Amino acid sequence: MIEVVHKQKPPAAPKTFAYRDLLAGEFWRRIPAYANVDEATFLDHLWQQRNSVKTPEELLATVRDLASPEFIADAELGFARAPMAVRVSPYAIALVDWSDPYRDPIRRQFIPVASALLPDHPRLTLDSLHEQADSPVPGIVHRYVDKALFLPVNVCPVYCRFCTRSYAIGPDTENVDKVELAKTPKQWQDVFAYIESRPELEDIVISGGDAYQLPPKNIELIGNTLLDIPHVRRMRFASKGPAIMPMKLLTDTAWVDALTRVVERGRTMGKDVMLHTHFNAPEEITEITQRALRLLFERGILVRNQSVLIRGVNDEPERMQLLVKRLGYVNVHAYYVYMHDMVKGVEDLRTTIQTAVDVEKFVRGSTAGFNTPTFVCDAPGGGGKRDVHSFEYYDRENGIAVYAAPSVKPGRAFTYFDPIDRLSPAAQVRWKDETIANEMVHEALRRAGARDESLVIA
Ligand SMILES: *Cc1c(COP(=O)(O)O)cnc(C)c1O
Ligand code: SF4
Repeated sequence: MIEVVHKQKPPAAPKTFAYRDLLAGEFWRRIPAYANVDEATFLDHLWQQRNSVKTPEELLATVRDLASPEFIADAELGFARAPMAVRVSPYAIALVDWSDPYRDPIRRQFIPVASALLPDHPRLTLDSLHEQADSPVPGIVHRYVDKALFLPVNVCPVYCRFCTRSYAIGPDTENVDKVELAKTPKQWQDVFAYIESRPELEDIVISGGDAYQLPPKNIELIGNTLLDIPHVRRMRFASKGPAIMPMKLLTDTAWVDALTRVVERGRTMGKDVMLHTHFNAPEEITEITQRALRLLFERGILVRNQSVLIRGVNDEPERMQLLVKRLGYVNVHAYYVYMHDMVKGVEDLRTTIQTAVDVEKFVRGSTAGFNTPTFVCDAPGGGGKRDVHSFEYYDRENGIAVYAAPSVKPGRAFTYFDPIDRLSPAAQVRWKDETIANEMVHEALRRAGARDESLVIA
């Protein structure tokens, strides 16, 4: 007879449960400007919008006595040099640890400081994804065969320093004049006509900008118009909102009701309507977030998350694991983690392909597979999203990764470059010499082409 020995699995360590510890209570009152703000006011989405910080003066007035004068001066210079306008919600301001703002993961995403800025990578451009080249009419990006991106709005409830669309999003800044998108229902007609004329388009991402900024009637106008196009099967409204202003879901009843009606109508038609959001740091998920997302869940509105891998925010394995577990805990599916796009003025936020590979390795296995994000690199030059691991060649020493995208742009090679300050001192010197840099890139392309024989290097 064989005796089976059941080995006891040791109990999970207490720190395993950190993802369930959500910030609760009136945490905003520690900010001087919000010390007398009661819960009803703090949860009011209109109050949040009215009190968003947009200038260094407003920032100073909000966090006076909390942040050092040196930090404020540093931020003032940072605001002046940024390619993005600045806008931060009181909710996000209240989550920053102002005793250590330089290292704070929320501050890093929204408030630039001049002292941390690094020179741009020599291969960097403003519209790194070539969205304008894949735009047949203003306000739409049609890159993949069966799905397209609709950009009906160019404003957001906050402005992220790392925004991919700094070429178009937000008001003009000292450093960038923005490209025009289609922003009114009249201008959207051309987009709807285009989608209607392309029977292969089954999946529409309504992004921007941010769907939070669309009034309820336009959520319904866009949602219903798209649902009425027979070949459109799936759509997603994309909003950063739940991450930085979750209370809107609790207090803007008209907006949530409009979204609910589109989702429910879609369901009766056999069509899938979802909300895609954008949490980056585990601290963004509080007890307010939990209540807000619970409301969506009860209404059957499913939420997926797309993060950006950001240095000092979520680029350590344990931090990403905490974020992913916490997302699952509040019923959000962690869908993607993007490599930071190669956009201007934010080299201090980018990290390497190798970091993504390492973080992914650690996170996979922590929770359900459907709650585990795919780490992708949206290949600069319009190659589309690629699994970070799927490079044809990766020169780790010089920070050059080469991708192919056979179903999107067959036969072409796409390059992603690690931030130069993360490379060895010798490699940093090589990048300073343009001739040597060109040779390194050429060599990486040659090796990638040698691996994938179909790849023609232009
Ligand atoms: C990301 C993206 C989509 C949607 O891609 P999924 O991988 O399905 O999430 C569609 N169009 C463009 C241009 C995109 O960048
Ligand atoms: S919310 Fe999205 S579109 Fe708006 S600034 Fe942030 S990343 Fe860009």
